[in-house]
Amino acid sequence: MVVGLVTVQRQATMQTPPTHQQPSWPRPRGLLLDAMGTLIDLRDTVGSGYAAVAERHGLRIAADAIDAVFPAIYRQAPPLAFGLLDDADLLEAERNWWSERIRETFAAIGAPAAQPDLQRDLFDHFADPGQWRVYDDVEAQLNRWHETGLRLAVVSNFDRRLHGLLEGLGLSPLLDAVVVSSSAGAAKPDPRPFALALEALELGPEQVWHVGDSPEDLEGARAAGLPCLLLERRSTTNSRSAMSR
Ligand SMILES: [Mg+2]
Repeated sequence: MVVGLVTVQRQATMQTPPTHQQPSWPRPRGLLLDAMGTLIDLRDTVGSGYAAVAERHGLRIAADAIDAVFPAIYRQAPPLAFGLLDDADLLEAERNWWSERIRETFAAIGAPAAQPDLQRDLFDHFADPGQWRVYDDVEAQLNRWHETGLRLAVVSNFDRRLHGLLEGLGLSPLLDAVVVSSSAGAAKPDPRPFALALEALELGPEQVWHVGDSPEDLEGARAAGLPCLLLERRSTTNSRSAMSR
């Protein structure tokens, strides 16, 4: 049964887009999957990570203060996407994008400005797979989908650290493609990252569904011509809402 494909999350409630009549959706040959808040989440809050790294630099900041301001800063940030750059320039652009978020975050809580070495360490901290977890139900579900022959691709508004995270978390062998906004040249809800993933899977939009957890997932999938299933995760941290878009 087609609907069985989307009973992904024991602790999630699927929201069916109201404008779609789900039973009429053709059975997909592939799925596009959001990452943050859909497949993976931070083990602890963004603020806890910031506070721990800052402390190593002799700077005491309150994790809960960071957590109070970070979600809005992240939501209001420009798209995490850049033009055509070589690897070194793209890495610099990615680090600069996050340095600006760090600068805004520290300013918002009235903390001293984060120095470049602290900014660099924060970027590297969240590149560590040990800071992340895979939702309990994901691996088994990806395996089931993989075994049924569904082609699977991640489409995420993130930078290229995601490749290492998915590798370190053991999900890469189950995925046929990973598209991140920073190297796609556009971020969801722009349809371009979806189009790149479809191209990588060699499938058309009528053959694929998107699974995500944010308005950007829904809007972007619609713009790309895909049905979209939204998951509603219950998170023990605020990272899902903080980092998911
Ligand atoms: Mg998300």
